[in-house]
Amino acid sequence: MILVSSCLAGMKVRYNGTDRLDERIHKLVEEKKAVMVCPELLGGFQTPRPPAEIIGGTGDDVLDGQAKVVDQFGCDVTDMYVSGAEETLKIARENGATTVILKENSPSCGSGFIYNGTFSGEKITGAGVTTALLRRHGIKVVSEDEFLA
Ligand code: SF4
Repeated sequence: MILVSSCLAGMKVRYNGTDRLDERIHKLVEEKKAVMVCPELLGGFQTPRPPAEIIGGTGDDVLDGQAKVVDQFGCDVTDMYVSGAEETLKIARENGATTVILKENSPSCGSGFIYNGTFSGEKITGAGVTTALLRRHGIKVVSEDEFLA
């Protein structure tokens, strides 16, 4: 089984209430080859919610307590991001998922790039919190771009 970001399958769960529908990923879900997850909703957020970025590092640094996730109003939401990552790991295990396709650039789901914590649209190389946790447990995480390439 494959796990995919809910927003890539067409669910309007992004912070601003939109999706990032990719028909090929939606088809995987329809054919029951993939299960949808949204780590941020699993962590207790609702839609819409303020955008958040990792400050001071990457998802790995967050897991190591060396960086935090903060929303655009300065509220520390690190615990909810870590909780969402743990819940996603649980679902991956329950479904025997060895490959996960997550939305690039997200502070949860990014696998190659994330925003740099200044809310300026600038990106850095690195993974989001959920991706980092899944990889630490031997699960392959790719972005929609890599999967569809
Ligand atoms: Fe999509 Fe992941 Fe953000 Fe949820 S946490 S909206 S699945 S990018």
